[in-house]
Amino acid sequence: MLNKKTLISALFAVCASASAFAQPERPNIVVILADDLGYSDVSFNGSKDITTPNLDKLAANGTVMTSAYAAHPFCGPSRAGLMTGRYPHRFGSQFNLPTNHKSGGLGIPTDEKFISKVLQESGYYTVAVGKWHLGETPEYHPNARGFDDYYGFTGGGHDYFPEKYQKKYQASLARGMDATIFDYIRPLERNGKEVRETEYVTDGLARETAAYIDKASKQDKPFFIYAAFNAPHTPMQAKDEDMAMFPNIKDKKRKVYAGMVYALDRAVGRIVDQLKASGEYENTLIVFFSDNGGKTPTGASNEPLRGRKGDTLEGGYRVPMFFHWPNKIPARDNYYHVISALDLFPTFANLAGADLTGVKKLDGVDVLDAVINGENARPGQSVFAMRHRYGYSDVGVRKDNFKALRFGSKDEWQLYDVNKDPSETKDLSGKYPVLLSQLKEEAEIWAWQHAEPKWFHIHREGFQWREKAMPRFHETFNYKPMYGE
Ligand code: CA
Repeated sequence: MLNKKTLISALFAVCASASAFAQPERPNIVVILADDLGYSDVSFNGSKDITTPNLDKLAANGTVMTSAYAAHPFCGPSRAGLMTGRYPHRFGSQFNLPTNHKSGGLGIPTDEKFISKVLQESGYYTVAVGKWHLGETPEYHPNARGFDDYYGFTGGGHDYFPEKYQKKYQASLARGMDATIFDYIRPLERNGKEVRETEYVTDGLARETAAYIDKASKQDKPFFIYAAFNAPHTPMQAKDEDMAMFPNIKDKKRKVYAGMVYALDRAVGRIVDQLKASGEYENTLIVFFSDNGGKTPTGASNEPLRGRKGDTLEGGYRVPMFFHWPNKIPARDNYYHVISALDLFPTFANLAGADLTGVKKLDGVDVLDAVINGENARPGQSVFAMRHRYGYSDVGVRKDNFKALRFGSKDEWQLYDVNKDPSETKDLSGKYPVLLSQLKEEAEIWAWQHAEPKWFHIHREGFQWREKAMPRFHETFNYKPMYGE
């Protein structure tokens, strides 16, 4: 006969096993990152001339974020923010890395723990495909930063047609030139070993992503795949058949650009097909976005946003984004509250139930519930952007519907309701001076938390400036750096 204690422990056992049984399976996470994609260069976000049917299908069945911000208005720091969940300025990574031969081997500091490492340690199979741009030497390589597998190129971009870039590369080697300087034409690699890619690079990256999904689905653990396409980043190279999809586009640059975006969309279709074929589609969170705004001189459009890649104007870092996850994310109208690429780290970590030991203070917030419920994930909390130019810094501070903006070499601040006025046309600084001064003060406090830049672009002067004036770098609104992006 059962005594009371046995009965209680038996009940406990039943409850515990029932709750273990009810524990939902952790989702797979697939990040599809576009490079320099304009805000309105996908039809789900209002493009009038470029069609993106595969992206549109996902967007229609998921939630589109209309106020999503990249962590920075250009490539390298944006990716550093995504991976670390922290503003790149905090760890001296506010500039693009010099290419390997010029840096002598620099990268995102290894005491910044990447989301890939966190997910790997929590039992995910982790894969990166495509552009890296976070350090090339072994200690900074994707395989050292938490990715079990990697296929791609570690620099800031790549040519697209293998038959052309491979010929150029071989000719350069034959002339005795140093192979490491040719970022864009070097062979791609798999886990550090050179490979001979045979397809148009966007198609090749899609093939590899699909193959890794297949491999992942055969393992008894969830997966995290970071598919970082370089499209539609320069060089502007599109397949004829993709450009032919746009007979109505007469402008040559726009046509090439459209072809590159169309190839990216095809890649997304291939990834979706593989997720379905592998039975992983329903329980995979897909996050699609761009690492920064479109570069209008090469054919991108950020309409109706003002500005372009590199700017703290909306067009510089407000990007197209959606979440898609049939098991959890509703197919709903747009999510218009602020979301930052910095939010992905805590959101993914919580989905994985990951241990955050060794992770420094994160700058983003877990947005999942807010996205599902259509609520503001960070009421009253600002999202910052700062880009250093020659002799001054551009700044953007977004809080709720408002954004304070300092742009250009004059120390003049503007204020916009970018929810109502995304084109930043009606300056409200005279109407809400108190709000503006609050946002300026927040930006200044934030800027004082920045670390000194660990590298500069190719400007020799930067190093001289670093020696002479570095202690003053925190004075971000007035300082006179001698370096560019
Ligand atoms: Ca970019």
